Amino acid sequence: MNKQSILKAGQISQEVKKYAKSFIKKDTPLLEIAEKIEDKIIELGGKPAFPTNTSINEVAAHYTPSHDDETKAHGLLKIDLGVHIDGWIADTAFSLDLENSEENKKLIEASKSALDNAIKLIKNSLGENANNKNGSVEVVGMVADKGSLMTNQIGKIIQETIESKGFSPINNLSGHEMKQYDLHAGLNIPNIDNNKKMILSKGLYAIEPFATNGSGRVYEGKSSGIYMLLDTKNIRSSIAREILKFIEEEYSTLPFCSRWLVKKFGAKALFGLRQLEENGNLHHFPQLIDSGKGKVAQSENTILIDDEGIKVTTEED
Ligand code: MN
Ligand code: MN
Repeated sequence: MNKQSILKAGQISQEVKKYAKSFIKKDTPLLEIAEKIEDKIIELGGKPAFPTNTSINEVAAHYTPSHDDETKAHGLLKIDLGVHIDGWIADTAFSLDLENSEENKKLIEASKSALDNAIKLIKNSLGENANNKNGSVEVVGMVADKGSLMTNQIGKIIQETIESKGFSPINNLSGHEMKQYDLHAGLNIPNIDNNKKMILSKGLYAIEPFATNGSGRVYEGKSSGIYMLLDTKNIRSSIAREILKFIEEEYSTLPFCSRWLVKKFGAKALFGLRQLEENGNLHHFPQLIDSGKGKVAQSENTILIDDEGIKVTTEED
């Protein structure tokens, strides 16, 4: 792992979050939000690790504006943004209530405190504090063994925190390990106690609780315009070939979106993308929607676990 790049990506994400919070208001066009965030990432010396997600209400994840999107910010808006330096990623998200709703504010608070409790549990189990203590440590009512932690214990504390506030975690969305140019690598960090006793070890992880007043399960909705490279196999169409080459060079194995390619190649990019999808070169992500049409709040931070301890890269200490 390249710690310097990981920390730099994290620092940029912190600044971009502050900037985003400063300008996003009710009725700000989602297209403007995504573009300003992505331009800021580049201005600060990073690259977007994936298209900025601007999912509203029951859409839990994977909504990014299309090149001609006219949707305006409203309701319960989740901003999920990624920064990378040479493929080393900072993945972070926050939620905003844009309709002055007590329920939205409680959902946001529930996802945020679930995230905070999960990180406290990790720090107390694996961090410096754990080494200075004997036996086990107690974190918000949960006892963790010193020096080791299972991913389902993180899920358990996320679930308990969200349920204690009267909401449900989304049980089929989870946090994830990250490796270079690999956004979802290795371990999953569940948002419920899924009984899978996988040991959390050194690495780079995104923890991302989702709280909802809906069903707590997402289904795959409409296409998102977010894609990822699957296979570089040859394709006959020359525009598709040109786009494929650009994707390989510019995004490698990180997600990208049709909006970015329309900017580079014009509207013909949409045609090329369809051909690449049909040819099996690309994976096209669906939007993820709460099946009870409940509102969804998300909070996410990236943590680095290494010999020096635990560092939240996407938030100030
Ligand atoms: Mn994210
Ligand atoms: Mn993530």
